[in-house]
Amino acid sequence: MFIGWVIFFFLLGAVLGSFINMLSDRLPAEKSIVTPGSVCDTCGKRLGVPDLIPILSFIFLKGHCRYCRAKIPARALWVEIATACLFSLFWVILGPGVALAISLVYLCVFITLFVIDLEKGLILNVIIYPFMVLALLLSPFYLTGDGLLANLSSSFFGGLTGFGLFLLIYIASRGGMGEGDIKMAGFIGLVCGFPNIFVAIFAGIVLGGLAAAALMLSGKRRKGQTIPFGPFLAVGAVTAMLFGSQIMDWYLSLA
Ligand SMILES: [Zn+2]
Repeated sequence: MFIGWVIFFFLLGAVLGSFINMLSDRLPAEKSIVTPGSVCDTCGKRLGVPDLIPILSFIFLKGHCRYCRAKIPARALWVEIATACLFSLFWVILGPGVALAISLVYLCVFITLFVIDLEKGLILNVIIYPFMVLALLLSPFYLTGDGLLANLSSSFFGGLTGFGLFLLIYIASRGGMGEGDIKMAGFIGLVCGFPNIFVAIFAGIVLGGLAAAALMLSGKRRKGQTIPFGPFLAVGAVTAMLFGSQIMDWYLSLA
């Protein structure tokens, strides 16, 4: 039974990963996400069911369009696999319930923000604003992974903390950090609440710092070149959603 549910959430995640790929292509280009149905970006041919099976179609077609042989970016595959694995992981950690349903919605939002910021360096208002409102509205029903019941004031102050901290960083860095990051930190605060927002930001900064150091050491990025921070914030947020209070307890035990 357990393994059955793990497989169920893996398949559900793979399908939503496919949807996230479509959003990541169309939202930054300001294209409709409803029409047309799935088409090849290169030849415009309408794609059928065999072309749209998550993960498998990409592997069988070796990452090319069936009709014009145009290359499909590898991102299409890794987003489907990552979303599938994360859906299974969320089920294993959170178990059934309202918290799981709400968490999976946020997870999809964070993966979409991750991909679009990584590829385009954009954090889109069309995603951030509606989900800020939703996060505040859902906060009384959102039980975080550690069993900590969030609520409206926790969500509100979390959002204020994230927004305020990043506004300060933005001012101090004189635009070295994007305005989108301020809104994203605010959104993460609304989702994770107070004090979990600190875990999300801390994890994001540690990961971002490590990645920047690794890129600089490998010679792929020069000093002064900026890397988008949104993807790291997204990973930090997912970490806080799953392990927020464990990390907080661990930190307090050190202090
Ligand atoms: Zn094609």
